[in-house]
Amino acid sequence: MLRGFLIALVCAATAGPSRVNADASRYDVLVSAGHEGRPASCAAFPARPCNLGAAGERTWTPLVAERVTADLRARGLRVLREPADFTGTYDVAAAVFIHFDGARPACTSGASIGYHRSAERAVAAQWRARYRRLFPFRFMPDDFTAGLRDYYAFKQVRARAALVLELGEITCPAQRAWLAPHLRDVADTIAAFLARIVVAPGKTFAVTRKHSGQQTNSKEFS
Ligand SMILES: [Zn+2]
Repeated sequence: MLRGFLIALVCAATAGPSRVNADASRYDVLVSAGHEGRPASCAAFPARPCNLGAAGERTWTPLVAERVTADLRARGLRVLREPADFTGTYDVAAAVFIHFDGARPACTSGASIGYHRSAERAVAAQWRARYRRLFPFRFMPDDFTAGLRDYYAFKQVRARAALVLELGEITCPAQRAWLAPHLRDVADTIAAFLARIVVAPGKTFAVTRKHSGQQTNSKEFS
């Protein structure tokens, strides 16, 4: 009886990232659209720069975020869809912050990835490999700006993977011309990537964590 109970406990602890603790059970993924809701939301967050993004960025980030959200929800995942500024701190398996880069002079940037912890480098590499198959322009190094490395909303998530996804340089005419008719493909690529790392984390994160129990998972979320 006790043995059966213990097995049930272990299964519950390893069944998925959303069961790591009670607080994590509400959402699997947080999807935020960069700059969305600004400047209206800036007044409520006076300590943050009211960065409105590059021209056109606030139109595109919600389009991508909405499609990613709809896709993941259709797969049965619980998605918290947020604009640029939101309150609260969330335990989720994955969080993505959707952006397009702006550069001066134009065409000196491309796609890039931001994250705060070196532990996320591997999952970032997986995103890069996946997006490279679609996006035909350059990638900048991970965390090549302070904004990527220390993104303000990283403080508001405790996630196995929290990534800023810069999806291309919207100020570069060639990249913009390619992105405009490919936003659905971009969103579909993000959704497929997230579904994989959330639904099958053992295949994406270090294999040694595949059967990790409560203790290891708790560490990941600390
Ligand atoms: Zn941006």
